[in-house]
Amino acid sequence: MYETIVIGGGPSGLMAAISASENNKKVLLIDKKDQLGRKLQISGGGRCNVTNNVSHDELIKHIPGNGKFLYSAFNTFDNYSIIRYFENLGVALKEEDHGRMFPKSNNAKDVVNALKEQLIKNQVEVKTTTKVTSLWIEDNTIKGVILSEGVKIEANHVIIATGGKSVPHTGSTGDGYTFATQAGHTITELFPTEVPITSNEPFVKSKILQGLSLQNIALSVLRKNGKPSITHQMDMLFTHFGISGPAALRCSQFVYHEQKRQKQKEIKMMIDVFPDLSVGQLTQRVQKMINDAKDKAIKNSLKGLVHERFLHFLLEQSNINLEENGHHLKKEALDQFIHLLKHFTFTVNGTLSIEKAFVTGGGVSVKEIIPATMGSKLHDNLFFCGEVLDIHGYTGGYNITSALVTGYVAGMQCR
Ligand SMILES: Cc1cc2nc3c(=O)[nH]c(=O)nc-3n(C[C@H](O)[C@H](O)[C@H](O)COP(=O)(O)OP(=O)(O)OC[C@H]3O[C@@H](n4cnc5c(N)ncnc54)[C@H](O)[C@@H]3O)c2cc1C
Repeated sequence: MYETIVIGGGPSGLMAAISASENNKKVLLIDKKDQLGRKLQISGGGRCNVTNNVSHDELIKHIPGNGKFLYSAFNTFDNYSIIRYFENLGVALKEEDHGRMFPKSNNAKDVVNALKEQLIKNQVEVKTTTKVTSLWIEDNTIKGVILSEGVKIEANHVIIATGGKSVPHTGSTGDGYTFATQAGHTITELFPTEVPITSNEPFVKSKILQGLSLQNIALSVLRKNGKPSITHQMDMLFTHFGISGPAALRCSQFVYHEQKRQKQKEIKMMIDVFPDLSVGQLTQRVQKMINDAKDKAIKNSLKGLVHERFLHFLLEQSNINLEENGHHLKKEALDQFIHLLKHFTFTVNGTLSIEKAFVTGGGVSVKEIIPATMGSKLHDNLFFCGEVLDIHGYTGGYNITSALVTGYVAGMQCR
């Protein structure tokens, strides 16, 4: 009989198993894949953005899916604890833009290996290539887990750390939602987050902007009344199916929510190519470029304002002949060109699938979880951690932070 069984060896399960075994308690970690931490190993483009060096308030701002639920867990273990934890394990970290923390080696394997070494040090028993098929529940009491072959394993505590449904080849196939349901828990609606956005706009279908990236633009998802429901100022990329890049990933969950709110598939998004300039300032700048080279073709006088392909596209959209010079430019056409630079509006029709998303939105309802312990409000000896919970953050280290924090706190309760 084990003190604790942890189902799932992603960041949340690895940390939960380490934390639960700190006082020499007998812990079993089960994972259905042949290796632990498969998703962790490919995270951050193989570099693992392990956490973020910002205040709790900033962290929570970047976890739009129930970030506030983590406040009390942060009192026990937070992003600064994560940084100290890995440095103590000999994994030196470095800070990059926007507070993002990576191993100095740029190798996610160092993070995975450090956690695996802790499992060995704490004598955690590990079963890989072993699938849990259900919880073992008798008389409404969690007794342990049941494996594929019907084998029952008993434990005083069970921690569900099975992740979401995204990138299923890493083992995250949503099994934990079935276990949670079996225990009487509510699963909120699942949806893809941090995922590219799709569009049928002619400029997407014709691929004329494909591969073009825009730096530091403001990308908005628009409500029915044309007002932004969210705006993110970051980089973005036009693709062969729509848009991607950091700003698009962050906006993606709002596309999903706005589609539901507007009860229609097609909704509007908007790009402000110069978010730090007012319409007046931008007009002055463009006018000066034209005036300084009035005899030149517009496409040449405005060279460098934005990427050439985007410039030509927007000039055409404004009915401006690329070859005409500044002498012939009509005020209405220039106004339209400026309007497009500040309010380029286009229709989108959804996102790529949950399987292709970086993160799964929705999950085990946090209303049924005790925030300070990650314990189930329905069963004293059942705990949840990581992405299986209805918690999701933006890219930038926020999801692994949530997984490690909730894993540590859940494990602590089982010591
Ligand atoms: C490509 C990619 C890059 C990412 N990069 C980052 C990043 O740099 N920073 C960041 O913060 N977030 C990143 N994320 C998100 C982050 O990786 C996840 O949020 C995080 O891994 C979730 O951890 P978890 O422990 O909850 O679940 P997972 O990492 O999904 O692990 C769940 C584990 O449970 C096991 N399992 C599932 N069902 C069963 C079962 N029935 N029996 C036994 N075992 C089971 C699986 O095999 C798996 O090992 C990235 C995601 C992707 C897809």
